[in-house]
Amino acid sequence: MLAMRVHAAGAPLLADQVAVREPAALQILVRVLACGVCRTDLHIADGELPAIPFPVTPGHEIIGRVERVGTGVSRFRIGDRVGVPWLGETCGVCSYCRRGLENLCDRARFTGYTLEGGYAEYVVADARYCCAVPARYSDTQAAPLLCAGLIGYRAYRAAGDGSLGLYGFGAAAHLLAQVARAAGRNVFAFTRPGDLTAQEFARGLGVTWAGGSDERPPEPLDAAIVFAPVGALVPAALAAVRKGGRVVCAGIHMSDIPAFPYRLLWGERSVCSIANLTRADAAEFMQLAAAVPLDPRVEVFPLRQANEALRKLRDGRLEGAAVLVP
Ligand SMILES: [Zn+2]
Ligand SMILES: [Zn+2]
Repeated sequence: MLAMRVHAAGAPLLADQVAVREPAALQILVRVLACGVCRTDLHIADGELPAIPFPVTPGHEIIGRVERVGTGVSRFRIGDRVGVPWLGETCGVCSYCRRGLENLCDRARFTGYTLEGGYAEYVVADARYCCAVPARYSDTQAAPLLCAGLIGYRAYRAAGDGSLGLYGFGAAAHLLAQVARAAGRNVFAFTRPGDLTAQEFARGLGVTWAGGSDERPPEPLDAAIVFAPVGALVPAALAAVRKGGRVVCAGIHMSDIPAFPYRLLWGERSVCSIANLTRADAAEFMQLAAAVPLDPRVEVFPLRQANEALRKLRDGRLEGAAVLVP
């Protein structure tokens, strides 16, 4: 089968022919129908995450069809449509796993990073970590729900109630803006300074206000989520939230956060990060996505054009999410 793989940090992905694996007892073999392109894939390709042996097949927003099931799998049958998310394996026994924080498991393994990913025609995954996907979404529309949607949703929950600022209006923010609007919340979108196209895109999704990340919102915010991997946005977001407000960093990697005056944190403002997801997050978000009609905006690329999709993501030239189709 064809797989687009990272062979060296900073180098383009290569189109490789690799063998299709047989699923082990608790695994399923999935024929990939669509795979979303996430900012994390760029960090992996650029070598910005803790080093792992190359080659790596990225991709953790997988929508596929079950082709074969292991002998111990009862949750899925051949022909089912499934989602394969970032969290691919946990130990089940560490203190985090036992406290319902399997997202923090010390021995967790991740799809498209320490496990094989979806930039390929087939993927083998542990069925216990796969999820059902709402029927109302096409394969390409459902793909970004798997990370931009559901890890974004974990950040959204951590942000708490009230008005919400979104720094970096990419795949995750464009979905979370819709979730927040459906809940009647005011949303403030912050884009790269001067990116009027992205601001127009955000307004088209119903946000209250859109501007550059160097601008102040028209009123203090109750909370903000930083999706862009830019450390300087943390003090900017702190300056935009009210007393008691919270700033949630939702990315896996960020440039250094510059020093900032204590008065930005004073007044019981807080900063936290969101790491990975739990299976409970996936179930909760998919239930919400089944009930609230989201409109995921996607740009579809053939699998072989994965490098082009990554380039457009890096340059901020996407509206919504890029999705690869084998
Ligand atoms: Zn992701
Ligand atoms: Zn664990």
